[in-house]
Amino acid sequence: MIKITNKDLCTGCCACLNVCPNNAITMLSDKEGFWYPRVDESSCNNCGLCEDVCPLIEGHIVTVERFKSPRVLAAWNTDDTIRLDSTSGGVFSALANEMFSVGGYVAGAVFLEDHTVSHIVTNDERKLDQIRSSKYLQSYSGEIFNNIKQILEEGKKVLICATPCQIAALYAVLGKDYQNLVTCDFICRGVNSPKVFLKYMDMLGRQYGARPAKIKFKNKTYGWHRFATRIDFANRKTYIKDRDHDLFMRGYLTTNSFARPCCYNCQFKALPRQADITLADFWGIERHHPELDNDHGTSLILLNSEKGARFFGEISDKVFSKELTIRDALAGNPALFDSLEYKPERKKFFEDLDAMSFAELAEKYFPVPGRFSEIIHRCTTGIINGLRKFLRLLQLIGYHPLVWWQFIYINMLRRATQGKLRLGFVPTTYCRIIIDRSARIIMNGVLILGTKENRKSKRETRFSLGKNSSITINGSFSIASGSDIRVFDKGELILSGGYCTSGVQIVCFKKITIGYGCAIARDVIIRDTDAHQLIGPTHQMTQEVFIGNNVWIGNRAIIMKGVTIDDGAIIAAGSIVTKDVPARCLVAGVPAKVVRENVQWK
Ligand SMILES: Cc1cc2nc3c(=O)[nH]c(=O)nc-3n(C[C@H](O)[C@H](O)[C@H](O)COP(=O)(O)OP(=O)(O)OC[C@H]3O[C@@H](n4cnc5c(N)ncnc54)[C@H](O)[C@@H]3O)c2cc1C
Ligand code: SF4
Ligand code: SF4
Ligand code: SF4
Repeated sequence: MIKITNKDLCTGCCACLNVCPNNAITMLSDKEGFWYPRVDESSCNNCGLCEDVCPLIEGHIVTVERFKSPRVLAAWNTDDTIRLDSTSGGVFSALANEMFSVGGYVAGAVFLEDHTVSHIVTNDERKLDQIRSSKYLQSYSGEIFNNIKQILEEGKKVLICATPCQIAALYAVLGKDYQNLVTCDFICRGVNSPKVFLKYMDMLGRQYGARPAKIKFKNKTYGWHRFATRIDFANRKTYIKDRDHDLFMRGYLTTNSFARPCCYNCQFKALPRQADITLADFWGIERHHPELDNDHGTSLILLNSEKGARFFGEISDKVFSKELTIRDALAGNPALFDSLEYKPERKKFFEDLDAMSFAELAEKYFPVPGRFSEIIHRCTTGIINGLRKFLRLLQLIGYHPLVWWQFIYINMLRRATQGKLRLGFVPTTYCRIIIDRSARIIMNGVLILGTKENRKSKRETRFSLGKNSSITINGSFSIASGSDIRVFDKGELILSGGYCTSGVQIVCFKKITIGYGCAIARDVIIRDTDAHQLIGPTHQMTQEVFIGNNVWIGNRAIIMKGVTIDDGAIIAAGSIVTKDVPARCLVAGVPAKVVRENVQWK
């Protein structure tokens, strides 16, 4: 019979509850609001099954075949509405939709009417809206593992997303891996006390005069980095505060005051993972790969098994992904290996929990800084960040006054420069720039023009925008010196994220689109026009070019008018591409033909 000798280890996973043949186990909440198993000794026949499955008893973790070094990807759902509604890049929703589309079941966490969180398993795709998004309090597993086992035994497919300790519990109950099961966990910072959360909801309910009807953590109104908590009340009022000002998030992120005791010494943080796929926020991506961050949310994905990689492959047309390294992943996500830091105030916080209101607890343990100190803090960080940006600009632009004038004029003084980002157009020395007054520059990202591969190079970079033409920058894009970018009258050029090395020519009469994460090598030519009209009825002089995400174009390749190159394709050096290239195919030759399928590059 299970005996909790050390409460600090029990994760409340409910594996023991699922296997007890006599229903002798119930989960009861303690005074902190976390549930633990209680055995009714009169119903227990000491069969020992509960101990056999407890993942915390040494040796009881079920071994499943996983890669020692997982494949690491940055990814997001290409449906921006779903991406914005999700916690990070919305990859979970793409996986769930895929599972529903093959008639399978999806298990995940939902808010219940009483504002607690519980896991459900369903084949009703309308429930995805409720399952989507992280809930930062512990989700009750109940008998979900038995339900999943039954569905799997019937030969149906199941996708589950849960904490790593819940995934370990699932395997413990199943006793083995199933080919029709795909498991997702996430990099887990720890789960919080449902009791504390209910206290918080109670306070907001009273402040807003109605009960909270919809709760959303990590709402992206202020962007993914400055995520907010949004609560819609039954009386149609709305509460929304960012991570620094929402009291629950502030307590969770700054003091770790109300996480479950086991989360301060988590036993599920190693590599290899147990789940087939690990999902997370790709924190830190903006530092190493700014082109992969537009503040809508970028997911970090670890593919831990063949099965996980195969299932992820099924959604390749629904998500953008780029292969990176585990070093990139670790840079901003220490929770992959590190548990929450235990602070002595946690004990005092729970001693005060019943006696104080939530507002009083917040004031005592994680106060929002006063207006004055916040202004000082904002000013200092603003000045430091401003200085950093200025130094970086100085490095790129140099000291030449003409280049600074171009920078100021294009970004600040031109009427037809628009977009979310000011100061995103960065010319460097030796750029010859001709922009018609009517040409629109839409800056949602950063364009660096004329980067020098050789510091002392004086190679000229040409950039021209004709009458009523437009250029849209969506991510971070750099164009090396010696390149020649020409957008003719009414032409439209869209650059998302990536780079051109030196000597690249882009000739745009109508429309050329280049997706995220593209690498365009030296002396490549991309053109959507023949520039001259053949006499005769059939010749179409100009046709749009579309280059998808994560495409690599080798030296001196030529991309001709009317071509679509799908995500992840590779164009070999010297090829002339006259026909469409399917996703993840390598093409070579003149004219280019597919020589290999299912390729990947990094
Ligand atoms: C408590 C918690 C802590 C986390 N800590 C980190 C972290 O430190 N670093 C990091 O990079 N990412 C962390 N994440 C993961 C991150 O928030 C995203 O869930 C993940 O990146 C997937 O995002 P998505 O946009 O693909 O899908 P989403 O739509 O956000 O999918 C979320 C999935 O997680 C499940 N889920 C939500 N809440 C819970 C819960 N309380 N318990 C179990 N399952 C739940 C849902 O069922 C859904 O399937 C944490 C998530 C949670 C719930
Ligand atoms: S020993 Fe057997 S009967 Fe007793 S609680 Fe555990 S599983 Fe149930
Ligand atoms: S099986 Fe889970 S809930 Fe039960 S004792 Fe072990 S850790 Fe706790
Ligand atoms: S931090 Fe560890 S113990 Fe806590 S919920 Fe996450 S996986 Fe479970």
